[in-house]
Amino acid sequence: MKITWMTQGSFLFESKGLRIVADPYMSDCLEAKGVKRMQPYPLSFEELKPDMLLCTHDHLDHLDPETVEKLGVMYPDCVFAGPVSCCRHFTELGIDKSRQLLLTRGQAVNFRGIKIIPVFAKHSDPEAVGAVFETDGKKLYLSGDSEYSDELFSADTRDCDMLLICINGRLGNMNIDDALQVVDELKPQAALPMHYGLFAENTVAPQPFIDGCITRGVKSFEMQTGKGFEL
Ligand SMILES: [Zn+2]
Repeated sequence: MKITWMTQGSFLFESKGLRIVADPYMSDCLEAKGVKRMQPYPLSFEELKPDMLLCTHDHLDHLDPETVEKLGVMYPDCVFAGPVSCCRHFTELGIDKSRQLLLTRGQAVNFRGIKIIPVFAKHSDPEAVGAVFETDGKKLYLSGDSEYSDELFSADTRDCDMLLICINGRLGNMNIDDALQVVDELKPQAALPMHYGLFAENTVAPQPFIDGCITRGVKSFEMQTGKGFEL
């Protein structure tokens, strides 16, 4: 499985010839609210070529209406996956229900050979999910946006090969200490920090998290946006 961080909570996952794009914020729609992005999305709409767009929750930096509408028109075969809140929004944006895949916590779905398990997330969108991906003999856990909660810990999220976890510590997300507690509990092989570096008002330096992982014997490094790596 190839993983590419695309800024903030967004990733491109490539496996079995499929491209799953999680939480793409490609517009600058938050600029109208005074929140300007600090770096561009690494791929253009033409380059993205998604087979699935997966939104973990219905907030603008994860379900960007401009992005969803445009991808919906450009890629008629793309599947739009998300919890109830996101599917409702997909429909409002003109994405037909036949193209939607509802993600319900604890109910695994099989997307052309890739197993996706929606899991608990504690966030201000009460229907928010994290996602566990199982493919190519590997298990990856994307936390999505979440506060710390004991409910994050389950057989689905334990013992993964890689954990991608939010660390910004604001607006309903874990801070670095919270995220390290999750690492202690879940014992992943590797844990990488995400959800920082896009908005000046809502970012944090990731190095203390990376150092904390390495102290615990868990692999960690700072991802470069747009530069993929193999899990
Ligand atoms: Zn977010």
